[in-house]
Amino acid sequence: MLRTTRILILLLLIAIPTTIITLVKLNKTGELYDKQMGVLSNQIGTKRLNSDPNSKNLSIPKDALADLEGKAVMGKLVNETLRADLGRSTWYVLHVMASRYPKDPTETEKALADTFITSLSFLYPCGDCAIHFQRHLKKNPAQLSSRNDFEQWLCALHNVVNKFLKKPIFDCSTVHDKYDCGCGPDLVRYDPSEDTPANRDIKL
Ligand SMILES: Cc1cc2nc3c(=O)[nH]c(=O)nc-3n(C[C@H](O)[C@H](O)[C@H](O)COP(=O)(O)OP(=O)(O)OC[C@H]3O[C@@H](n4cnc5c(N)ncnc54)[C@H](O)[C@@H]3O)c2cc1C
Repeated sequence: MLRTTRILILLLLIAIPTTIITLVKLNKTGELYDKQMGVLSNQIGTKRLNSDPNSKNLSIPKDALADLEGKAVMGKLVNETLRADLGRSTWYVLHVMASRYPKDPTETEKALADTFITSLSFLYPCGDCAIHFQRHLKKNPAQLSSRNDFEQWLCALHNVVNKFLKKPIFDCSTVHDKYDCGCGPDLVRYDPSEDTPANRDIKL
């Protein structure tokens, strides 16, 4: 009996400090987690601020991309079917975007488009295509001063890729008609607060 009591006391002597040490460690981990989350939410907060449409400072600072110089975020895309499907879909989005881009974009709209194109050249999910895209952008930066500039620059970019892949060259004088949705030239800058049935009737 005495022996059992001694063993129990010994176990308690070991267990109590171990529990205290573990609790302190857990608390520290929690503090670290809170710290990291704080930094993260600050970063997200900063990004949100930069995404404010009223902000003029939307372009990605060149040195922010220095560690990605000459690299793509995604790996090489070896599946030819996926590579072609991805290409067709992406070109379609880009050409329709250019055909609906404002004729007289604001500085903020130009910066948004520039940031989008730059980001796509790093994030395009075919890594080797993304590298070609970046090289082209370096030599021929996106022309975003007007709808026509965007459409023609993009058409020329697509033709560079066509030439590289030995595909037919597209006649860029027809590009607007090909991707025009027929929605009318003034349907830009959608504001949900103005999208009332009465306004809709007037616009139509
Ligand atoms: C930014 C980018 C870079 C790419 N880089 C590579 C690469 O390095 N290597 C690779 O293997 N693939 C690349 N691709 C994919 C490649 O361009 C094609 O999308 C893919 O090979 C499928 O070709 P496709 O013949 O179906 O027609 P696509 O070239 O996808 O074109 C789709 C349709 O667009 C129309 N079109 C053609 N040319 C033009 C033009 N100049 N302007 C407007 N419309 C046009 C035609 O009607 C055509 O049928 C890239 C795609 C993108 C978006």
